[in-house]
Amino acid sequence: MRHKRILIVLTVLVFVMIVAVGAYFYGQSVKNIERLTYLDFSEKAENGNVKVVYLTDSPSIGGELTDGTRFVTENPRSEDFKENMLVLGVRVEEGQRNSALMTAFRMVLVFGIIILSVWAISRLMNRETPTGRKDPMDKLTTMQCETVRDVGVGFDDVAGSEEAKESVKDIVDFLKNPEKYARMGARMPRGVIFYGPPGTGKTLLAKAVAGEAGVPYFAFSGSDFVQVYVGVGAARIRDVFKKAREMGRCVIFFDEIDALGKKRDGMASGGNDERSQTLNALLTEMSGFNSNGGIVVIAATNRLDVLDEALLRPGRFDRQVEIGLPDINGRFEILKIHSRNKPLDRGIDMKKLAHQTVFFSGAQLENLMNEAAIFAAKRGSKLIERADVDKAYYTVIAGAEKKDRSAISRLDREITAYHEAGHALVTKLVAPENRVTKVTIIPSTRGAGGFSVSLPPDRMYRSRKQMESSIKIALAGRIAEEIIFGRDNVTTGASNDIEKATQIVMALVKRFGMGESTGMLNYDILFQNSVASQEHIVEECRAFMDKYYRETSDLLVENKYLLDRIARTLLEKESIDEECLDAILSGESSEPAVPERDSESNRGTGTTFDKAPWTVA
Ligand code: ADP
Repeated sequence: MRHKRILIVLTVLVFVMIVAVGAYFYGQSVKNIERLTYLDFSEKAENGNVKVVYLTDSPSIGGELTDGTRFVTENPRSEDFKENMLVLGVRVEEGQRNSALMTAFRMVLVFGIIILSVWAISRLMNRETPTGRKDPMDKLTTMQCETVRDVGVGFDDVAGSEEAKESVKDIVDFLKNPEKYARMGARMPRGVIFYGPPGTGKTLLAKAVAGEAGVPYFAFSGSDFVQVYVGVGAARIRDVFKKAREMGRCVIFFDEIDALGKKRDGMASGGNDERSQTLNALLTEMSGFNSNGGIVVIAATNRLDVLDEALLRPGRFDRQVEIGLPDINGRFEILKIHSRNKPLDRGIDMKKLAHQTVFFSGAQLENLMNEAAIFAAKRGSKLIERADVDKAYYTVIAGAEKKDRSAISRLDREITAYHEAGHALVTKLVAPENRVTKVTIIPSTRGAGGFSVSLPPDRMYRSRKQMESSIKIALAGRIAEEIIFGRDNVTTGASNDIEKATQIVMALVKRFGMGESTGMLNYDILFQNSVASQEHIVEECRAFMDKYYRETSDLLVENKYLLDRIARTLLEKESIDEECLDAILSGESSEPAVPERDSESNRGTGTTFDKAPWTVA
């Protein structure tokens, strides 16, 4: 529709231009013709100055003088006019020089130009660009998408999400056999929302639904529909559903649905009109199609609570399926899937690896196996060995190791060593159930100066003690710096730890009702409906934090000799694993010599060794 309108406007423009240009030239040609009185003309004819006369029946006749000037004069319409002229030696041509033939030719030319222009413009509008994409005009409202007729993915390729798979099995059956459900008068859900952390296999499961049902799969990202121009997003939505209807049975997948389906409250006007219109178009399309026709819409989001309620009403996305991080069994199964086509050395213990990968998403596990395969291939090995998996494990957690470490001062290395030793030691002292799989002072390319991996056990709930321990582990890095280098020399390296500790203490007080004086209240809900001051919440959090700080500090001062041992070993070896750490703590490992303390002037200027999320859990 839009294109047609543009086409008409352009055609009219071209036509007006042609008329204007034609009128101009006509004016110019009229200007060059001299109008003679009949007397002047007769005189010029007698003097032999007239070359030719075009004889017609019209009131004026034209001709050309011997000097090339064209003229018009009155038509005497006398019978002997032609003879008189011929006697005077003037050539007489009967009929106008700009004859009807000429006029017809001109008209054909003008229309030809118009038709050509219209054709050229319409060609231009439909033309494919060299990249194979449609012209921007088309791209605006037509959706480019990943359309796969045979996705080649089934439920066997999705591990660890048994409940999620179970809750979409009937949808697969429905897609295979919509009539069966229609006969029973059953209304299938029009839309399903998968929600959960990134990388947990939401896209994969949507593909698997299409794959199991053997129907085509259309994939879009919610952000494709958020446009600057009002109406474009809505037009795209309509385009998507039009294509889907043409396809018959299919799965439409919207990734990041929150980009277009966020709550609309308080932003009904202005720049958000576009999003509102797009969302309305989606709702209308979803309510509009016959659910028994065999189209299922699946959407994915990281957070369900940010979505507009309208999306979740019956008849829209009325089934919501949570897909969480995999548990130990899930991780084991996912690891098995992603090592199916990889030659693994027998020394690799998948169960152990599944234990070590708490908080890993499916995507990270896939990445882990892939990185290990890359390391093995780089070495030119025939098998993926344990060392490759170990290396990959730390790359996934913290990024690649920084190779050039020559610019790091000795003091910075020492601060990092004590900081990481603090985390590791306090983990061992307050949360012995956690696993400290690695402590390192090797900086990563992602900007971490070092890190220590502290993995909590797989548990459904977290206890208050565990949360307190997590806070203490997070604070331990800064406290170790303070004990060894003095209060004035602590660094910015603890910023990430402080952030995490604050998040935990806030949750403890505001959400879990574990505060001393704040009671069993959810303060997020409370503050939504009142303007009450949050001061006492801040006070409570501070009191907690000060208490944990004191306790951790006492613990580290008491065990300073262990802190020194770990830090010295780290300075010597750069990385230690759990076995080595346990040996240091039990006094079994031979103690490295005490390093001379660096007296460089940049002492305490602050290094940035932000932590990976696994530093504290
Ligand atoms: P999401 O859509 O939740 O962000 P994806 O489906 O894009 O996650 O997952 C990315 C990749 O991670 C998948 O292609 C797959 O290789 C791997 N993956 C994630 N979850 C699983 C799982 N449960 N089983 C097998 N592989 C998984």
